[in-house]
Amino acid sequence: MNIPHKPRFEHAKHIGRTFYNSLNIKSYPIDPIQIVYHMNWKFEIDDLCGEEGYTFYNPRTDNYCIVIDNTQSVRRQRCKFTIAHEIGHIVMNHYNCYDIDNLTDEAYHILDVEADIVAGEILMPYISLRRTNNSNIISLANLYDVSHSAMETRLRFLNLYDCIIREEMKSM
Ligand SMILES: [Zn+2]
Repeated sequence: MNIPHKPRFEHAKHIGRTFYNSLNIKSYPIDPIQIVYHMNWKFEIDDLCGEEGYTFYNPRTDNYCIVIDNTQSVRRQRCKFTIAHEIGHIVMNHYNCYDIDNLTDEAYHILDVEADIVAGEILMPYISLRRTNNSNIISLANLYDVSHSAMETRLRFLNLYDCIIREEMKSM
């Protein structure tokens, strides 16, 4: 299959939300390692020589093993995002649709953007952010156990950033 010419934002959002809903998660923060085990995928920590995370796909068993670099494990929030990003690649079918080891930098970037969107849908689900009456970005980041910048990026992506900031100003 050909790599898309640009990231499929709506498609990635849809896939991410559908996947998240199928997990029927009731409490936060979300632990992506639990999702990996729930899906019967494998998870390992290894030396990836500078790469943050990688996923091995076994076409014979149709199973996945997400591997996170051992230097990552000390940075918990970053590590969680990396795992969620790898889950994003899996649920977007990047591994079984494309020759992921032989992509141009541009093609790789397109798939990475899509995986990031899915990671956001998993760690900071739209439905719960939309409903929140918490108007403080730092406390929202703490609630979902993500970095401040990940939360800010996510709110901007969902067009929720301006109304959160407005509420935050009001409460000052
Ligand atoms: Zn990636």
